[in-house]
Amino acid sequence: MTDCIFCKIVNKEIPAAIIYEDDIFIGFLDINPRSKGHTLIIPKEHFERYDEVPEQIQEGLGKVLHSISKQLIEKLNATGFNILSNNGESAGQVVKHVHFHILPRYGEKGHSLEAAFPIDEQAKEELQQTYNLLAPLQPVNHMKVAPEGIAHKEENKEKQENIKNEKEIKSFEEETYLMDQRDILPDS
Ligand SMILES: [Zn+2]
Repeated sequence: MTDCIFCKIVNKEIPAAIIYEDDIFIGFLDINPRSKGHTLIIPKEHFERYDEVPEQIQEGLGKVLHSISKQLIEKLNATGFNILSNNGESAGQVVKHVHFHILPRYGEKGHSLEAAFPIDEQAKEELQQTYNLLAPLQPVNHMKVAPEGIAHKEENKEKQENIKNEKEIKSFEEETYLMDQRDILPDS
């Protein structure tokens, strides 16, 4: 987009302290840092929000966020970090080009998200209804199936079967955990 400030940074039309670049993403220091090393990670291609980003870019994004967080922490001797993305005006998004903040954090015990988002009492009261509305969400397929060879296919089928069982056990455990949580909530 021609009037997008982040697209202009991608196209080197305006300067930025770019500390990371590959074919798909760039990372640069926030001009108004909230902490030392406050970095923004963006896809080079213009998408307004994270929920509009196509799958192949999403997958790379996970790796890039992980790698850059790790490098920032090591190089800056940070003791922790936050990853944050504001999407949509209701979430406080200002620049309409999807971006992820990595905020290295230092010292003993700092403010967490609770400082910016106090507990929403109504949402707390409606926890049960919200759970009923949401659970279960659609599963994400993380499987990578080898394309060639029947033997491979059989092997993979078996592996998938095992993983499926493990997943079922895990989701059962998670569900049990949620139920336990629910039991301790008052009037829900
Ligand atoms: Zn843009």
